[in-house]
Amino acid sequence: MATYVIVGAGLAGAKAAQTLREEGFDGEIVLIGAESERPYERPPLSKEYLQGRGEREKIFVHEPGWYADNDVDLRLGTKVTRIEPAHHLVRLGDGSRQPYDKLLIATGAVPRRLPGPAYYLRTVDDSEALKRRFAEGANVLIVGASWIGLETAAAARAAGCQVTVVEPEPTALNRALGPELGALFARLHASKGVNLRFGTAAAEITESGVRLSSGERLTADLVVVGIGAAPEVGLARDAGLDVGQGVLTDSSLRTSNPDVYAAGDVAEFFHPLYGRRVRVEHWANALHGGPAAARSMLGQEVVYDRLPYFYTDQYELGMEFSGDIEGHDEVVYRGDPESMEFIAYWLRDRRVIAGMNVNVWDVVDDIQELIKSGVTVHPKELSSG
Ligand SMILES: Cc1cc2nc3c(=O)[nH]c(=O)nc-3n(C[C@H](O)[C@H](O)[C@H](O)COP(=O)(O)OP(=O)(O)OC[C@H]3O[C@@H](n4cnc5c(N)ncnc54)[C@H](O)[C@@H]3O)c2cc1C
Repeated sequence: MATYVIVGAGLAGAKAAQTLREEGFDGEIVLIGAESERPYERPPLSKEYLQGRGEREKIFVHEPGWYADNDVDLRLGTKVTRIEPAHHLVRLGDGSRQPYDKLLIATGAVPRRLPGPAYYLRTVDDSEALKRRFAEGANVLIVGASWIGLETAAAARAAGCQVTVVEPEPTALNRALGPELGALFARLHASKGVNLRFGTAAAEITESGVRLSSGERLTADLVVVGIGAAPEVGLARDAGLDVGQGVLTDSSLRTSNPDVYAAGDVAEFFHPLYGRRVRVEHWANALHGGPAAARSMLGQEVVYDRLPYFYTDQYELGMEFSGDIEGHDEVVYRGDPESMEFIAYWLRDRRVIAGMNVNVWDVVDDIQELIKSGVTVHPKELSSG
C-alpha cells in the first residue's frame, strides 16, 4: 500500500489530504503539523476572530472527526526535522522516521521578525494574545502598512485602541496596489482615526515603543510587526531540492525531485500565464494549490494556472483582488473610488493585468477572464461598458 506524507497541516496540506481521498486514493495518508491545533484558516485571525466576532470552531478546515473518518493519520505537535529523498523518508522531532512513496511540502511561511519585544500575527494563539491586549484598550503601534498591518489596525480601532502605523514606503500597500490605490486605503484608515506615519522605518523596538529612523521616539503599550512572511524552505533546501524564493516546482507543483511536491505559501511554481515562476502568499492559493498537488501526486495531468487572488475586509470596505500589478502603466476606474464602490483595473499596453473590486460583488470571474484573455481594451470601455 502506498504512503503519501504531507508536511505542514495548514490549509494547503489539509485540502491536499481531502483531495487524495476524494480522488479515490486508498493508501496511507500521513498529515504532519508542528502546531497543536488541527488545520485552520488564517484570514479570520486578523479580521472577525481578532475582533471577537468569529466563533473558534469556524476557523477550522474540517470537523474534528473528519481525519479519523477519512483515515487520515493527523499528527499534530510534530515537527519534521529532515527530508531524505534518497531514502524516501522524513525524520520527525521525536527521533522517529516516516517513510513515504510521495511527499508534499506544505510548510507555509513564518512572519519576518525584527529585534525587540513585539507581537506577530500568524497563529490562532497570536490572534488570541492580541485580542486580549486590544481589550485592555492599549495604545498600539503597528510596524508595516500591508494587509496584516492594516487589518490589525482596523481590529484595534474597533476595540477602541489608539493606533499608530509606521511604514517606510510613501503610502499604504504601495507595492501591492501602487500609490493611487494604496493612498485610498491610507485615507480610509486616517478617517477612522489611525495615525499613519509614512516614509519612516522602525529603527528599534523597545519595551516603551519604537525609535524611528528619524530618531523620533513613539511610545506604545504594545508593538505589532507585520512586515511580510518568509517561506519555510529550510527542509527542502537541506534535502537538496531546488529552492529560489520558495520551493521551486513546475506547473504541476512537482519539485526537482519527482516524488516530492510543494503547494501553498511555500511553493514557487511555474505559472504558464506569466511564463515564469511565482510565489503566492494568499488563502486561495493554498485552497486550490493543495488539491492540485494532490491530483498531481496521483499521476493526473495537472497544469496549475490559477490567477493570484486575494481578499480583505477593513471597516466597511470589502474587496477582492485578482492578478499582479507588476509592470502596469495605467489604472482605470469603473465607478468613483471615493464612493468606496468601484472596480480598478491595472493595464499594461492596454491589456488588463490586474483588477480589484471594492464593495462590488460577483465580478471576479469576469475580471479574471479579462486578464487571462490578454485582449487589448480601450480604457473608456472599461470605465463605462
Ligand atoms: C493573519 C493572517 C491573515 C491572512 N488573511 C488573508 C486574507 O485575508 N486573504 C488571503 O488571501 N490570504 C490571507 N492570509 C494568507 C493565508 O492565510 C496563507 O496564504 C495561507 O495560510 C497559506 O496556507 P499554507 O497551508 O500554505 O501555509 P500555512 O497556513 O502557514 O500552514 C503551514 C503549516 O505547516 C506547519 N509547518 C511548517 N514547518 C513544519 C515542519 N517542519 N514540520 C511540521 N509542520 C510544519 C506550520 O506550523 C503551519 O501550521 C492571511 C495570513 C495571515 C497570517
